[in-house]
Amino acid sequence: AKSKGSGDFCFYSAQLNERLHERMQLEFRLRRALEREEFFLEYQPILDGKTGRINAVEALLRWNDPEKGRVMPDSFIPLAEDTGVILPLGEWVLRTACAKVRQWQDAGVMPVRMAVNISGKQFTQGDLSKTVEEALQQSGVHPSWLELELTETCLIHNVEETVKKLFRLKGLNVSLAIDDFGTGYSSLQYLKNFPIDHLKIDRGFINKLCDLPDDRAIVDAIIGIAKAMDLHVIAEGVETRQQAEYLAGRGCDEFQGYYFYRPLSEEKLLEVLSSEAAA
Ligand code: C2E
Ligand code: CA
Ligand code: CA
Ligand code: CA
Repeated sequence: AKSKGSGDFCFYSAQLNERLHERMQLEFRLRRALEREEFFLEYQPILDGKTGRINAVEALLRWNDPEKGRVMPDSFIPLAEDTGVILPLGEWVLRTACAKVRQWQDAGVMPVRMAVNISGKQFTQGDLSKTVEEALQQSGVHPSWLELELTETCLIHNVEETVKKLFRLKGLNVSLAIDDFGTGYSSLQYLKNFPIDHLKIDRGFINKLCDLPDDRAIVDAIIGIAKAMDLHVIAEGVETRQQAEYLAGRGCDEFQGYYFYRPLSEEKLLEVLSSEAAA
């Protein structure tokens, strides 16, 4: 067994080495990308369920890698989290998102709320409330225009600490949303103690809304809980008219998804907002 084992070991270790090497390479490229300003944001509109007007946009991070072209967040956020690069990167996102809101408002663009994704590590390890406060101060944006999207998994880790952090953030007067709601280990008990404003139903449930009765039951239940707790519900990943109609019938407050808009470049977003303001 020994000789065979050592052969396996060599094989695995070569593979491991390669993986480790790739990881370090990517970490290096992420840090360099931050310095070279290769990241940029796209903005996906979030519409009012009653009026159909754009209430908000979600800032979505992209990387313009000179080697590989446009890289989507799912392929670099996990590593940015693991390596801690997410802390300076997340700060960049917050500062940039706030600066954009200010720039657009100064230009007379129809004002919209800006939703920013916050990673688990930013919430648990970084001094998030300080970063947010600074981004607001530097940009001069009123906090009511900023919304932070947090995931359930980052909130349930240490509940006592979470409650303190959430109240500190809430004290800045920003809005707080739970993203991907229904996928984590949410407990209704926690929900009651957290100063949360919005629930975003995970797009996995919205997806199958029109053919899976179970998903329909979950969505109905989430909307019911949200209403009972006086939380505003946002459905993400709305791709069809049937989904939108079903959700509107249930009193869902806001919609986001390809059926309405894909994530847009800043330029496209400004076109959309100005044509909407004119309408
Ligand atoms: P998320 O926060 O759940 O963001 C929504 C994702 O769903 C976005 O993918 C968006 O493009 C996509 N989406 C929107 N509408 C539809 C639809 O109708 N159908 C489908 N199939 N997808 C739709 P994206 O931009 O690739 O982002 C993926 C994830 O990366 C985000 O999921 C979020 O977890 C993370 N992310 C993006 N930007 C940031 C950021 O600035 N910071 C952090 N920490 N994470 C980010
Ligand atoms: Ca999100
Ligand atoms: Ca989400
Ligand atoms: Ca997600």
